[in-house]
Amino acid sequence: MLYTTIQQAAPALRDAMTAARHILVTSHINPDGDAVGSSIGLTRILRAMGCRVTMVLPTELPSLAVVLPDAPEVGVYSQGASLPADVDLVVLVDTGSISRIEPIFSAERAYLAQRPLLVIDHHATNSGEGFLNLVMTEAAATCEILGLLAQAWNQAIDAETATALLMGLVTDTQSFQTSHTSPRTLRVAADLLALGGRLNEVMRSMMYGKPFAHAKALGMAIERMHDEGDIIWTEFTQAMQQGTGADDEAGDEITAYLSRVATAKAYVLFKERRDGTVKISMRSQPGIDVGSVAHSLGGGGHREAAGATLQLGLDEARDLVLSTLRVALA
Ligand code: AMP
Ligand code: MN
Ligand code: MN
Repeated sequence: MLYTTIQQAAPALRDAMTAARHILVTSHINPDGDAVGSSIGLTRILRAMGCRVTMVLPTELPSLAVVLPDAPEVGVYSQGASLPADVDLVVLVDTGSISRIEPIFSAERAYLAQRPLLVIDHHATNSGEGFLNLVMTEAAATCEILGLLAQAWNQAIDAETATALLMGLVTDTQSFQTSHTSPRTLRVAADLLALGGRLNEVMRSMMYGKPFAHAKALGMAIERMHDEGDIIWTEFTQAMQQGTGADDEAGDEITAYLSRVATAKAYVLFKERRDGTVKISMRSQPGIDVGSVAHSLGGGGHREAAGATLQLGLDEARDLVLSTLRVALA
């Protein structure tokens, strides 16, 4: 069943979750603020409803998660570790496809196949793989959906839950700057702030909590920016990562900076990963669809923010992506 409104989904989702004996909450690889905020926020809401919940994320949490006291409780999956055997419901948040929870997806195929999946998400490329899916593509963040869901359930939200949900709203909207920031997004954020959510701490950890190495990496990436008219792109190579000591998260900084330049329609960051693959992050001007370009390259995302992982070297990835993008923009 695929729901697209809170009204229709709320009773079915509550029935499924309260009937479960043990719920596993998880989200996508390289979890961002919305993945972490929605995992912790939903877990806290469900526990307040009397549910037993375990959180496991596929890879390390982003550094901004330090402002959430529950962050240390989130299990980070390690190969060979087993997931709780008595789980009888898997809830996937902020993720367009279950295949995006690598390495869990490959290592735990049988485990996942044996358990019902419930999906709460806002990605345009979500095809509804669960037995119950709430996919609201107009929502700015999965955390926006959860704020509305708690209201529909008449479930009180405490200050820590509000802070977790604010983290997803703030990060996915780049501090309420992106075009999918709606009156409803701001209303949910205002309600969470009124409930004691620590908005300013979340903002500070996102905007002013960067390591020095990120600034150095950003400088190098700006130096390498290429202006091709409709497309502005740059790269973040392994050499740059090792030379500066910057981690993967510096990529978000670079992507955000690229899209500040007004003259282009689309922006691409090519990030060389340690395993030899290339992760692309695409952004676009309002109304320009890079989500379908990412989808055609085996990735996904939203119209104006999307990505993919390519099993190619940096040069080949660049040729393929830029030519695909040029055709799409023409
Ligand atoms: P990013 O560029 O990593 O910030 O991602 C932008 C958006 O695209 C997010 O909503 C991601 O969930 C989505 N996305 C990024 N990489 C992939 C991928 N390899 N497959 C599917 N969706 C992706
Ligand atoms: Mn996300
Ligand atoms: Mn999101």
